[in-house]
Amino acid sequence: MAVLEIDTVHKNFGGFVAINDVSFALEEGETHAIIGPNGAGKTTFFNLITGHLQPDHGSVTFDGRAITGMAPHRIVKLGLARSFQRINIYPRMSVFENVQVALIARDAMHFKLFTLGAALNRDETSELLALVGLGDEANEVAGELAYGKQKQLELAIALAANPKVLLLDEPTAGMSPQETAESIRLIEQITVARGLTLLFTEHDMGVVFGIADRISVLHHGVIIASGKPDEVRNDEEVRRVYLGGSSHAAA
Ligand code: ADP
Ligand code: MG
Repeated sequence: MAVLEIDTVHKNFGGFVAINDVSFALEEGETHAIIGPNGAGKTTFFNLITGHLQPDHGSVTFDGRAITGMAPHRIVKLGLARSFQRINIYPRMSVFENVQVALIARDAMHFKLFTLGAALNRDETSELLALVGLGDEANEVAGELAYGKQKQLELAIALAANPKVLLLDEPTAGMSPQETAESIRLIEQITVARGLTLLFTEHDMGVVFGIADRISVLHHGVIIASGKPDEVRNDEEVRRVYLGGSSHAAA
């Protein structure tokens, strides 16, 4: 069963075609990686799914519902949450407050913010911080966390929406190999613990093989291959255009 269906979605920027009639289905419960070199169109593809960009034509269906043209915050409320390639947190607020505010937004309790104050969602905030490994950093200023921990915080913020499907745009971008390995392990654990369907982008092919059930390769705005990791790894076209003929990961 496809939980997310993209049908011939197209996006051009002033004549430059960034996403070229892409059709794609995300199966419920799977972990699916979209890989492709920088500039392939991965972030644009995510923006088209999450309502941050409108397609020139084509449709996006989430959970059996047409979401094309819907505002991003409404799509989040339906259960489709994402993280961004660039860090997207409130840097001056504490780690705890960042997650707490996300929970308040989810519950649309803005009007109660001042009456209930800091007591709001405290337990769930602590739970989420523990889940992403930030239990000890709750009171630190978010913008002063190490880079890898800021990415963990973003993950907690995305999870605060209580999503059914999670989209992560290059979750390990800018991380050291060790941080990358730890981060992938964490994402894997959380996906299982929360029963999430996960779609993530990555430019380094090597990162995805341990975690993805399926991989789709995006190249110049077109999905040139889609399948199990081994199928994709051995695909002639993928090797030619993406790996440059080598079996090693390419950036
Ligand atoms: P990726 O995430 O795979 O690195 P992007 O989706 O960010 O790729 O970009 C795909 C292509 O579209 C790039 O050539 C980029 O320069 C172009 N692009 C992305 N966003 C815009 C925009 N808002 N206006 C013009 N060109 C854009
Ligand atoms: Mg990108």
